[in-house]
Amino acid sequence: MPPSVLLLVLYPIVGAFAPTAFFLLWPKERPPLGSASAGPDANKSTTARLGALIPLFGSGTLLLGTLFWLLLFSSTSLEKARLFGDLGLSSALVGGYFGFSWAGISIWLLALGAITGRMQREIPGLMAPLRVQIVVWLVEAIAEETWRVIALLALMTSGNSALLSVVVVSVAFGSGFLRLGVQRAAVASLDGFFFGFLFLWRGSFLAPFMAHLAIQAVYLWGVGELSQYRQRRKTWQVPGTKCPVCQAHLKLLQIKLSDLFECPSCGAQLSVSDWYQNVMRFTAALGIGSTALGTLLLLHVWLPDKLVYCLTYPVSYGVATSGFLIYKRAFTRLFPPRLQRGTPYFITLNLKGGHESKTSKSEDK
Ligand SMILES: [Zn+2]
Repeated sequence: MPPSVLLLVLYPIVGAFAPTAFFLLWPKERPPLGSASAGPDANKSTTARLGALIPLFGSGTLLLGTLFWLLLFSSTSLEKARLFGDLGLSSALVGGYFGFSWAGISIWLLALGAITGRMQREIPGLMAPLRVQIVVWLVEAIAEETWRVIALLALMTSGNSALLSVVVVSVAFGSGFLRLGVQRAAVASLDGFFFGFLFLWRGSFLAPFMAHLAIQAVYLWGVGELSQYRQRRKTWQVPGTKCPVCQAHLKLLQIKLSDLFECPSCGAQLSVSDWYQNVMRFTAALGIGSTALGTLLLLHVWLPDKLVYCLTYPVSYGVATSGFLIYKRAFTRLFPPRLQRGTPYFITLNLKGGHESKTSKSEDK
C-alpha cells in the first residue's frame, strides 16, 4: 500500500470521528442529555462553544496528522516539489477572486439542493463571537489546504497524472462530508476539485488558501445571517440607531431595510430613511456594473481569450451573489441606518412622488 493512501484517508477519518474523539478527550464538554428540550436559549452558549471547538479540534488534528505523515513518509522527490510553490501576490488575488465567485455559485447549488430538502451546509463557528470566528476561519483554511496540497503532491510525485490526482483528492475530501448526505458530499467534492485545480494552475499554496478564506468568509459573514440559526445569534447593537420616537436602541435584525416596521419598544411605525435607502441602491447598482467590468478585465489578464468569453458571465454572477450578501451586512455595520417615523404624515412629507405604493398603503388606513 503506497503511503499516500494513509494521507488520503486521513481527511474522511478526521471528519467522521472528530466529534466522538473530542468528547472522549473532554467528556465534561458533552451537553447533558435532554438539554435540547430545555429550549434554544438554555444551550445557546454551549452550542456556540461546541460549534467552534469541534471544528478547531478537527482542523488541529488534520494539520498534526498531515505534518506527522510528512515526517514519516516524506521522500526526496516530494521535498524537491516545491510544497508551497511561488508565494506571489497574483496567485493570492486569483485565488481570492475565484473563491469569492465560487462561493456565490455554490450558494445557488445549495439553494437547488435545499429545494429537494436534502442539503445543508454547516458553517463552523457561526454562532461564536467574532474573535473566535476568525480563529476557526484561519485554522480551518490552513489545515485543509495544507492537507490538500501535500496529498496532491504525494500522488503526483509517485507517478500519477495531475488530473487523476486532483480527482482522487477531491473524492477523499468529499467523502469527509458523507455524514451530511450524498448531495453535500458531491458539492464538497466539487469544492475540492476547484481548490485542487487552483493549486495546480497557479502552482502556489496561496491560491487555494485565499479561495478557501474567501468562501468561508462569504458563508460566515454573508450567508450565516440568513441561516436557520439567525434568530439565535448574538446581534450587534448598532451605535446611533435609535428609535426617533422613544430613543430605544434597535438591533440590526430588528430593522427592515426596505419596509415599514414597528419599533419593538414603543410600537411606532418606522422605516429606514429614504436618503439611506437611495445611497444603498446607488452603491449596489454601481457595484454590479463594476463587478462585470472588473471581472472581464481580470479574466483577460489571467486566462486565454477563448475562456474569457465563456467564463465572464458565470464568474461575475458568482461574485455578484457573494458581493450582495456581504455588502448588505457590511454597509449596515459601517453606516448605521438612520430611521424615520413612517407615519403617513412623515411619509408623504419625505417622499416627493415615486413611492406610490407606500403612499397608497398609508392612505388606506
Ligand atoms: Zn420606539
